[in-house]
Amino acid sequence: MQLSFAHGDVPDAAQWGDWRWQVAHAVRNVHQVEELLGLRSGSLAYLSSAAARYPLFATPYYLSLAKSADLSDPVLRQCLPDNAELTEQAGGEPDALAEEACSPVSRLVHRYPDRVLYVTGNFCAVRCRHCLRKRDWERQVAPPSEDELALAADYLRKHTEVREVLISGGDPLMLPEESLRQIVAAFSAVPSIEMLRFGSRVPVVLPQRVTPQLAQILAGGKPAWLATHFNHPQELTAEAAAAADTLLRHGIGLVNQSVLLKGVNDSADCLGRLFTGLLRMHVKPYYLFHGDPITGAMHFRTGIKAGLALMDQLRGKISGMALPAFAFDLPGGAGKIRLQPEHILRCEADGTPVFMSYDGRETAYPN
Ligand SMILES: *Cc1c(COP(=O)(O)O)cnc(C)c1O
Ligand code: SF4
Repeated sequence: MQLSFAHGDVPDAAQWGDWRWQVAHAVRNVHQVEELLGLRSGSLAYLSSAAARYPLFATPYYLSLAKSADLSDPVLRQCLPDNAELTEQAGGEPDALAEEACSPVSRLVHRYPDRVLYVTGNFCAVRCRHCLRKRDWERQVAPPSEDELALAADYLRKHTEVREVLISGGDPLMLPEESLRQIVAAFSAVPSIEMLRFGSRVPVVLPQRVTPQLAQILAGGKPAWLATHFNHPQELTAEAAAAADTLLRHGIGLVNQSVLLKGVNDSADCLGRLFTGLLRMHVKPYYLFHGDPITGAMHFRTGIKAGLALMDQLRGKISGMALPAFAFDLPGGAGKIRLQPEHILRCEADGTPVFMSYDGRETAYPN
């Protein structure tokens, strides 16, 4: 939608395309949202306490992807506060994945044998309302110091079974370039590290930031992959495709991790358009996550059964390459579970299994 900038503040094309302009003009309170969306002053005041509990931050670019100022728009639902965030709901935890308990050295989470997660900070270009790390938003987490990086690199030198570092955040692509360069260099210097995987929503919410210079930094060490986070086809813009293209041209492999969000993308039609659209941009859909039980984000959860039913509806209808793994994280840091919809119907007396084809035909598979 067309945003309503105050007279004299209308950005020209160069400003709009400049990530620094986008960050400087990001909305930080509901009043600014009212202005940009052209809503009556005070009409969003009822959301102020949710915005006070979980800060609001969104680039004008991302807001402009909404089709209208209706708060049920899938883009607005992902970035504007909702009073449901304040309702305590059973089962919600601030750190449902127990990341803090699995951390042997500062910022590093070592949960699986051959890969670790490294948390670089907590600044993002948009504060997603469903964020897994909402608990951290109040705290300012600075980029890692050289000493902290050296400690993490030492840990990795001693743990030669670790082959991959997931560099996450917050959003690592929002770090100062010098910090990012140091991080890439520190981990790439560990001989047993074979690849880096960046986790970033910048291609979705601030694609202007993906300059050739930034891509060069990301690609400047061990082979790099980037896992991004598109959740809705409205996010698949020409700007996002250009960002993907820049990363690809620097040899960075691209995958996408979506979160299944109630009222945003919980229909087979929406997910199908998202996944096939991602493939068109050379981004492989990797995971569709069921929402974690995070305090302040419980209202986005659909239930695992609903997620499996959606995956089942997509099976066979769209390219197999477009289908991600449906997954969720077990509580207490027990790791990810991937689930497939069940397609086996029964076994005959002689043991022959009978399956349901994607278009609903019962078909035996001879043993
Ligand atoms: C999700 C996650 C990973 C990566 O798991 P993959 O299945 O390889 O994508 C690694 N470490 C932690 C702590 C994670 O939560
Ligand atoms: S970009 Fe990722 S880390 Fe940042 S607010 Fe969104 S979901 Fe959370």
